[in-house]
Amino acid sequence: MRLLLIEDDPMIAEELCVALRQSGYAVDAVCDARGGEASLTGHAYDLVLLDLGLPDGSGLDILKKLRARRDQVPVLVITAQDTLKDVVTGLDLGADDYMIKPFALEELEARIRVLLRRREGRASPLVVWNDMELDPATHSFSVGGAPIVLSAREFAVLYALMEKPGAVLSRQALEEKIYGWNEEVESNAVEYHISQLRKKIGGNGIRNIRGVGYVLEKKA
Ligand code: CA
Repeated sequence: MRLLLIEDDPMIAEELCVALRQSGYAVDAVCDARGGEASLTGHAYDLVLLDLGLPDGSGLDILKKLRARRDQVPVLVITAQDTLKDVVTGLDLGADDYMIKPFALEELEARIRVLLRRREGRASPLVVWNDMELDPATHSFSVGGAPIVLSAREFAVLYALMEKPGAVLSRQALEEKIYGWNEEVESNAVEYHISQLRKKIGGNGIRNIRGVGYVLEKKA
């Protein structure tokens, strides 16, 4: 899952980036409205964390433009207590949720999971495909009820594939799900994670469609 963080307070931004990356998200961070808009027009994100008070404008304008071009990406507003009025405006403009600073990281991450789940159209917190079960909250994974340990990157790749079973994801799309801008990507990183996953997920096939990408196969 790839997140965009638009936040001008360097300490908050740093803290959020570290925590979210530790939780397995790919995170891109920008510190002003201009950077936010440039990122949103150039990349596909699974969720946006949006501060409202930015040095060169309001996060509300970013939100307005985003929804005006019918971009449905979930937006979670993070803002200071004294901008509560803006929060209401933000929700009316199409934000999906908000948190007032300071907030507990645990709660922020839980709300992120709710928004991602809603976007995927899942009522259950678990992501299920064939006999595989993946739990984004605890980062646990099982095949046929047996727990299997996955690395953070393997988890991210499998989550992306299981989120859209039957859809073919290109190598680039998978890279974008698991690496932020400032992370070095080895040229065969996705292939490597896929080959590791294949050893772990038993008869649940990940098919490589040459020149197109990867897809999870339905079990016969
Ligand atoms: Ca701010």
